[in-house]
Amino acid sequence: MATTPTYQAFINGERVDGSSGETFGVTNPATEEEIARVALCNEADVEAAVAAAAAAAPGWAGKPVSERSKVLLKLSQLIMENAAELAELETREHGSPLRKTMNFDVPLCAEQFEYFAGVARAETGETLPVGPWATSYTVREPLGVVGLITPWNFPALMVVWKLGAALVTGNACIVKPPTVAPLTTLRLAELATEAGAPPGAVNVLTGPGGSVGEALVRHPGVAKIGFTGDTETGKRIMAVASETVKAVGLELGGNNAFIVMGDADVAAAAEGAAFGAFFNSGQVCAAASRFYVHESVYDEFAERFVAATAALQMGDPMDMGTVIGPVVYEGHRDKVESYIAQTKKEGATLLLGGERPDMPGLWVAPTVFGDCTNDMAVMQNEVFGPVVGLAKFSTPEEAVALTNDTQYGLSASVWTKDVRQAMVMASQIQAGTVWINEHLIIFCETPWGGCKQSGWGKDLSTMALEEYSYTKHIYIDLTGAEVKPWYQILK
Ligand code: NDP
Repeated sequence: MATTPTYQAFINGERVDGSSGETFGVTNPATEEEIARVALCNEADVEAAVAAAAAAAPGWAGKPVSERSKVLLKLSQLIMENAAELAELETREHGSPLRKTMNFDVPLCAEQFEYFAGVARAETGETLPVGPWATSYTVREPLGVVGLITPWNFPALMVVWKLGAALVTGNACIVKPPTVAPLTTLRLAELATEAGAPPGAVNVLTGPGGSVGEALVRHPGVAKIGFTGDTETGKRIMAVASETVKAVGLELGGNNAFIVMGDADVAAAAEGAAFGAFFNSGQVCAAASRFYVHESVYDEFAERFVAATAALQMGDPMDMGTVIGPVVYEGHRDKVESYIAQTKKEGATLLLGGERPDMPGLWVAPTVFGDCTNDMAVMQNEVFGPVVGLAKFSTPEEAVALTNDTQYGLSASVWTKDVRQAMVMASQIQAGTVWINEHLIIFCETPWGGCKQSGWGKDLSTMALEEYSYTKHIYIDLTGAEVKPWYQILK
């Protein structure tokens, strides 16, 4: 019988056991079989990782950006050379279909390192108009040691969003990957080292967020926490980070509106809805989850959306035909199912799904509810699974008001042929991203991040470089005078 492989943590460029000597299990959600044991780190390991990162940081920061950039380019190349292994690993630890991990997650990870490698070399400071007595300019400096705490929904990609920007700007990084899916992160750290990142520049600590993650947030040697995860965890991280006045970047939850106007191309909107709602089994912070559909096209849209969704193949994630995989772990399946039960109880009309599929593994069938009202739990909370609600509206003002009636502000989309109307609505919607006739498309070049309780700070784009550096102002006296004119204020 094959033994379950054990994965160690990654500190100072080496695989190491956790100092407790203990391990935890990682389960394939499609089969519920344990596929790996992983080092259970503790606070002693956090100390070791911070020491390794602190030792590496000055040397890494002292390299020209062109050299750091070459490491990222090499890493990008290594990711593509190891694409099949990485894609399969992510599919097995997370359940995401191989079709997606092969064609989306892995190539995007490579592309994003490539993007940050290029764009960092074009970063400049400013010269400030304080003459004729001085010259004054700004430079961007790395922060030092940064902690990157990531969620399970895109195990590799969520790390890369942060690691690319943090590494190329000269920081030493300690990643705390999700406990349910830490394997691809560990492999990426090894590849980063193979690509030339010095020992200590990329470390990975595996173990629970409540202990390992929080110790990282509390540690005075960590300058910033880049966090992606649940809003409640983000609040806790803010509170703990305040003890050391630590900077935090927070990419938090969302409950994202998808607005279909009366003049929309309903066929295109329905296809976009099936993608926007059920990509990655709805386990996407920006997933379309609340649908506001103009009363004149509601029935047609609902019918087309349900048909497009019913055509999505659910099943073995290793089958290249599969587009809907399982949800990631049992407790999460139970949470998603509890939203289905509650929405039924609240009186919405079940249009599709709603029953647990009869197959081994952690499955939730794509589920669509109609006739929802904005006070229903599915319209207010982040389900983070393949469950959505549809509601009618009459006027653009009503659609915007319904969209803004939530604690979240991550993303929204407006589907219409009237671009003027769409632009007016985009300006009124409280969200970090508003798509017009699209939902869920994200580029390296475009900033990602929310407002309200969806957090603050930006991943991706050149704005991400600012998240992992600070502006230093340097002033040079040009007068050469012993007594400067403004000393007179004191005399
Ligand atoms: P969690 O907040 O539960 O966990 C995220 C990470 O934080 C994990 O590594 C977790 O460790 C760790 N963690 C948990 N508690 C603490 C703590 N007290 N201190 C420090 N770290 C801690 O989120 P999920 O993993 O469940 O991810 C889903 C969430 O992520 C959703 O809300 C989703 O919207 C959000 N998300 C937001 C995105 C955005 O761009 N805005 C993008 C993607 C996801 P452990 O795994 O051990 O619990």
